[in-house]
Order: sequence, then structure tokens, then C-alpha cells
Amino acid sequence: MRMIDLIEKKRDGETLSTAEIEWFIQAYTVDAVPDYQTAALLMAIYIRGMNRRETVDLTLATAHSGDTLDLHDVAPFVIDKHSSGGVGDKTTLVVQPLVAACGVPVGKMSGRGLGSSGGTLDKMEAVDGWTFEMTVEKFKKQLAEIGLVLAGQTAVLAPADKKMYALRDVTGTVASTPLIAASIMSKKLAAGADAILLDVKTGSGAFMPTVEAARDLAQVMVDIGTDAGRKVVALISDMNQPLGYAIGNGLEVQEAIETLRGGGPPDFWAHCLAVADHMLLLAGKADSLDEAKELITAVRQDGSALTKFRQMVVTQGGDGAQVDDPDLLPQAKFVEPIIAPRSGTVAGMNTGEIGWATVRLGGGRFVKTDEIDHAVGFVLPAKIGDEFSKGDILGTIHANDRDKLAQAQTELLAALSWSDETVDPLPHFYGVIQ
Ligand code: URA
Repeated sequence: MRMIDLIEKKRDGETLSTAEIEWFIQAYTVDAVPDYQTAALLMAIYIRGMNRRETVDLTLATAHSGDTLDLHDVAPFVIDKHSSGGVGDKTTLVVQPLVAACGVPVGKMSGRGLGSSGGTLDKMEAVDGWTFEMTVEKFKKQLAEIGLVLAGQTAVLAPADKKMYALRDVTGTVASTPLIAASIMSKKLAAGADAILLDVKTGSGAFMPTVEAARDLAQVMVDIGTDAGRKVVALISDMNQPLGYAIGNGLEVQEAIETLRGGGPPDFWAHCLAVADHMLLLAGKADSLDEAKELITAVRQDGSALTKFRQMVVTQGGDGAQVDDPDLLPQAKFVEPIIAPRSGTVAGMNTGEIGWATVRLGGGRFVKTDEIDHAVGFVLPAKIGDEFSKGDILGTIHANDRDKLAQAQTELLAALSWSDETVDPLPHFYGVIQ
């Protein structure tokens, strides 16, 4: 086969055959197809789309481009979760220990930040000594022993996605439904989970700007997982404002610990509770969402979920004292209030821009080699629908550099829009797809 024929076919709106998709993924994985031709094909897919059969073929070929994990020798039923990416999204840090404390093993491979959206691995690296590097053997041993693992994506699982993702990031081809669906689901299928809870975000801080686009993406991913014999449920959740209050790595770990302790922002807890409830239901640990809610609430109240989190931290080399006393996590030199510039109601937020402001403070990367500053970010309790008077404190900026602090102040305020009228608060969820 010739790559140019595949590019031209997709460019002209035709469908690719199963054999063509399998050939392309195999050839790309072993560097037999150059990045420039792959970029052209990705752009053709971005513009022309893919039908369901092509998307399933792309997912399966990508999932089989490397090793696939079978975890059944250490856990009879493994559940995984995946968020499509957002700002302030530290859900994994709370939900994983909640579910594990209920006796359901959670082995998860997470990623680093991407664009304006944060990454679980970057957040956890705020804890001294914590590492996500591990062999498959260690992954399995930890899953068997404590029922909770938070690892990085290994180079041997879905390697075609790893290469293609980096290329998409720099060729304007990320926000495509078939490409996102194949990217997420290939990794989940390769990682061996029996059931997968997908948290598909929509809004100004998400890849999918509208509820309809998020629903389409969720449906495609649920269909792919079901075809592959996995149990999959997708929640469509709001990302028109940051999740919880904290945005920035160490601040988010601190907020996750507060939430496991029984505190934390109400919107964040509501989100974690819903995600964890659905995971228990998927795992067959509860027969109804109400029963799941009782179990999850109990392991938060009796402290066993926090103990699980601490166990995971320490087993992966982290400093348990920082879990016991989150003030020991990295702290910024300057903490300044964000002052309401006018009286009125917060009517909207450009959440992606808040994410970028965090990156510019040092909390994310512009290029792969950038070092992360784990102490910086925002704590923003202000939510859409909240009323303020001019001069009220909306939140705080945490910075290690005076110039960056001043810039962040301007950028954060520019990301907010105001109204003189009452504005309804936003829903947490827009639906469930299963
Ligand atoms: N997360 C992924 O893993 N892949 C995408 O394409 C988008 C979000």
C-alpha cells in the first residue's frame, strides 16, 4: 500500500478500509511512514471525519500497536476512569481512593498536562519523592497489594497513539471526534480495564465546546468500548468554569486531600461523588446509585479513602507527611487577592484562558522540556451566578514572581464576564450515555 493513496482517498471524502487503517497504524508505529504524511492524513480525517466502522478500526489498530495488559491474575475485575481534560480537574485524586476503599481495584495510567488543561501526573509530582514510573510487574504487585495504582503511560502501550498525539498537538488536529475517541479508547483497551467510566467535559475549558459535540464523542467512545466487550458509561460534565476552587498542581493536591478529609468545594465533591457512584455501579459493587452513594460517603467519613490515598503516595515513594499536613506541599512566595473590579454577577468564564494563565504562571508547559512550578496557580471560589460588590475578594493568586503575578491578575480578570442581572448557576452534568 502507498500512504499517498490513503491521504488522497480521505482528502476526497472516501472511507478507508479496515486493511488500509491497519496497514497505516503498523507502518507509522515502526517509522515506515513519515510524520509529514501522517500529519496530512490526520488533517484529512479532521476535515472529512470518519464513520463508525473506520473509528472502531482506528481504535483497535492503535490499541494493538503495542502490548496489551491482562490484569486478571491480580484482580478479578478492574475499573478505570478517564477525563477528556479540563481546568482544575483533580477528580482522579479523590475518586480513585474512594472506589479502592470500597474494595474495587483501580489501576490507572494517567497523563501529563496538555495545552491549557492540567495533568494528573504533574499534580501528583507536587508531593516530594512521588513517582509514576514503574514496570508492569510493579503495577500488578501494587494493584494486588493495595488495590490502587496511579502510573504513567508506558511506552509499550498504544505506542501509535503516543506518536500521533504529539503530532496532533502541533498540527491543529486535536479537536476531532474520531481522533479523540480512538486516542482515549485505544489506551483504555490496551490497559486491560473491564469497565471504564468516561468523564467527557464540555464548555469553555474543554476540547468539546458544545453539549452536542460532547454527547457525540461520548456515544462514539461508549460504542467502541461496548464493541470491544467492555462495560462503558460516559458522563457529560460541565467545564464552563474550573472544577472546584484550586487550579495549579500543589494547590489541587491540597484541595483533593481536603475533600478526602470531608471538606473541599461543594461542586467538586458533587462531581467526585457522581463519578465514584457510577464506578461502583459499573463494578457491580452496588445495585443502585443510592446504594453506591452510601458506600462512597461512608469511606470518606471513616477516613479509609484518605488512608488509601496515603498508602498509594507512600508506596510510590512520596512523602506521607505532606498528606497528613498539606501545608508542607510547595507554597508560593506571593499570595495576593483577586479583587472584583465591579459590582454584579459573574456571568461567564473563559476557562481555557484561566488554564493558560496558570501555565504562564509556571504551572504548565509550553514546550516539553519546561519545568513545572508546583506551588503556583489560583484559588477561585467565585462561580458563575455568584454576586459580588466592587472590591470583594474573588480568590487568590499564588506566584513566585512579581511580574508573573501582575500578569496573572490582569489575565484572570479578563477571563471573567459580568452581568447586572441574576445569572443561573450551571449544572454539574448534562447527561449519562451508556
Ligand atoms: N485525551 C487523550 O488521551 N487523547 C485525546 O485525543 C484528547 C484527550
